[in-house]
Amino acid sequence: MILYNMMEKLVLEELEKVFNKEEYNGCTCERCKADMMALALNKLPAKYVVTEQGEIISKIVATLPQNQVDLLSAVVEASELVKRRPRHLENNENIG
Ligand SMILES: [Zn+2]
Repeated sequence: MILYNMMEKLVLEELEKVFNKEEYNGCTCERCKADMMALALNKLPAKYVVTEQGEIISKIVATLPQNQVDLLSAVVEASELVKRRPRHLENNENIG
């Protein structure tokens, strides 16, 4: 059995939509992506489910009542924050 936070999948899906927008000019590296996910997830309620291995998680996601506006705004806000202060540059002390 797996304990899984469905919100992670929802945030990841929204984040990929943001990345795919033509006007998006921020970083999409793994570090920035992880930072954006962490920031957005910290603002959203966790939605844990217990699932059996192999079960189709997207099927459960489709049944989740979700507040799309909160989800989208948390993701957009997180991407803006990371864009302004990308931590992939943190080795350079003078950045920011
Ligand atoms: Zn980056």
